[in-house]
Amino acid sequence: MYSTVERIERSFADLEKNHPPLAGMLAPFKALLVERARLREEAPALPELPVPKLDPERLRQGVFWAADAEVFATDRPEWLAFFRQSLERLLPVMGANFPGLAREAETVLAALARGRLDLAGLFRCAAGGGDISGVAGQLGLPADKLAFLAAEAARPLLEHRAGQLGPSVPEGVWSRGECPLCGRPPEISILRGQVGQRFLRCSRCSHEWRFPRSQCPACMNDDHTGLEFLYLKDREGERAEGCRFCKRYLLGLDARRLGESLAPEAYAAGLAHLHLLAAESGYSQGPSAGA
Ligand SMILES: [Zn+2]
Ligand SMILES: [Zn+2]
Repeated sequence: MYSTVERIERSFADLEKNHPPLAGMLAPFKALLVERARLREEAPALPELPVPKLDPERLRQGVFWAADAEVFATDRPEWLAFFRQSLERLLPVMGANFPGLAREAETVLAALARGRLDLAGLFRCAAGGGDISGVAGQLGLPADKLAFLAAEAARPLLEHRAGQLGPSVPEGVWSRGECPLCGRPPEISILRGQVGQRFLRCSRCSHEWRFPRSQCPACMNDDHTGLEFLYLKDREGERAEGCRFCKRYLLGLDARRLGESLAPEAYAAGLAHLHLLAAESGYSQGPSAGA
């Protein structure tokens, strides 16, 4: 059994070995994902938050859990202190590895050090509960870049929380293409187990939920002739899954070919060539794009 950090390192080694032209662009993502996973491994030491009552009927109607209850946002001081630590550790990594975020990362860190960052407000936005433009305005930063930085820093906490919430979602009640916990679209699709059961992985909280193999999560069309798989020769385990009806695509992995110990987040960040392949075939990314 590998730790998440080991799975990420092995997945990047696999990507580097099989896609040498990508090697240069993989390093920054690897640095970020490894540090994020380390934080995630430290999160279980936090005091547990109560799990609100879930009405399965609401899920059956297609209403995700966080739409009815504040399941992710919290003002608990221990959680905010962890979010602060997460910003202090991840922002330097992002600033150093992604030149387009260097100034923004520095500005947030400076505000944090001077006690002038609305930590609770920023966490609430990253957890899906608010408009970030107010905090962005206070800092003089573009809202989209601040949202990206905050989402990365909140992710270890949201993943930890999703791990607490996930078991409460009963099998078979949720049929949507967005996350049953937080309502975000998937970042990647994964086939697991001997028969290749399909799971979608949330782009915000990393929760995985079952989804039919022949259905498009963007437009819900379930005519299997509408699906097109784009992949490189001999790398069928990594593909762009396109829908001929809505012309959207989602990255997809086959764990039976790549190994069950794969880290989906590494492939989600590393398979840049598949985005190109999909775009060349007239597909655009689903609403999860880069968020
Ligand atoms: Zn989610
Ligand atoms: Zn579709």
